[in-house]
Order: sequence, then C-alpha cells, then structure tokens
Amino acid sequence: MKIGVLALQGAVSEHIRSLESAGAEAVAVKRTEELQDLHGLVIPGGESTTIGKLMRKYGFMDAVRDFAAQGKPVFGTCAGLIILASEIEGQEEAHLGLMNMTVARNAFGRQRESFETDLDVKGIDNPIRAVFIRAPLIKSVGAGVEVLSTYKGEIVTARQGRFLAASYHPELTDDYRLHAYFLEMAKEAAASKA
Ligand code: GLN
Repeated sequence: MKIGVLALQGAVSEHIRSLESAGAEAVAVKRTEELQDLHGLVIPGGESTTIGKLMRKYGFMDAVRDFAAQGKPVFGTCAGLIILASEIEGQEEAHLGLMNMTVARNAFGRQRESFETDLDVKGIDNPIRAVFIRAPLIKSVGAGVEVLSTYKGEIVTARQGRFLAASYHPELTDDYRLHAYFLEMAKEAAASKA
C-alpha cells in the first residue's frame, strides 16, 4: 500500500515514519498529481487555517474531493480533522467538508494546551497513546459517523466510511496502531476495487 502525507504544512515526517512502521510505503505529497497512485492520504496536524489556505492555493480542495470520490481513504489528525469536518464552530466556512461533524478548535483551553493520555479506541485491542496539542474536539456527529473514542465524555476519534479523524497526534509516539488501522482501511478499499 502506498500512502501519501499531505506536505503543505505540519507534522509530515512523523506520519511517514509511523506509516512505514505499520508496513506501508509512505510519501510526502506536495503536488496534486502525486495523489494519482496513492491508496490513501493523511492530512497531518499543524494549523488548519494555514493548511486550508495552501490547499486552496495549490488545487488540493478539488483534488482531494476527487480522490475521496474514488473511494480512497483519508485520515485527518488534529488540524487534519478540522480540514475534514463539515462544520467548524465560529467559522463561516469549512474546508473539505467530507465528514459529517461539527468541530471546535483549540477546545481544551489554555491551561491544557497539551497533554498525553491512554485512549480506548473501538477496533483496537488495547488503549493507544495519544498526544493532544491545542487539539480540536468533535462537538457532534451526523448520520453515518461512528464514534471510535471519547476523552472525558468528548469525542476525539471518529470514522465515516473511508474517512478517519483523530483530535490528537498518533504520529508523535511509537504506537503506530492507529496508522495500522488506517492501512487496513486502505487495503479494504483497494481490494473492493480489484
Ligand atoms: N489548533 C490547531 C488548529 O486549529 C490544530 C493543532 C494541531 O494540529 N496540533 O488548526
């Protein structure tokens, strides 16, 4: 499986390392043409306004929507989750809007800008290690979205078909099981096409 990591801004090399640990071939994606031969795409953490701006500038909004329309999986972490959401609290405009959910940015407050915790995720046997950095929360999900984990009652991991979103940074630990989970999604998608 060849998985791309959108490399406009944010935590790119860490995702590449985690994807490789999970057994994928992983590449940084800087131009829309590079989406062509991928089986899945990761949109990393960083700053969602900046990533959104650069995606618009370089043609990635339509390109990633096309990619998704071909049934190929997309995984957004932290800022990447915000990019996937159909609604962002307090903002007029969403970005890709591929996942039916409302998110709130920087939702854990200043005193808890960053922290680590062990998180139970549906579909993964034991808790995973999660690093939250100025993290967004999923305030509500709409039809078709399955909640995979909560932290103190708030939704922090969700899946809608071939889209996966996490509020935190799974790429900043040595625990690559969420990447392995995404890789399985990519394998299923590729197999259903063959
Ligand atoms: N706070 C950032 C945003 O709103 C996301 C933080 C992150 O990706 N670590 O875009």
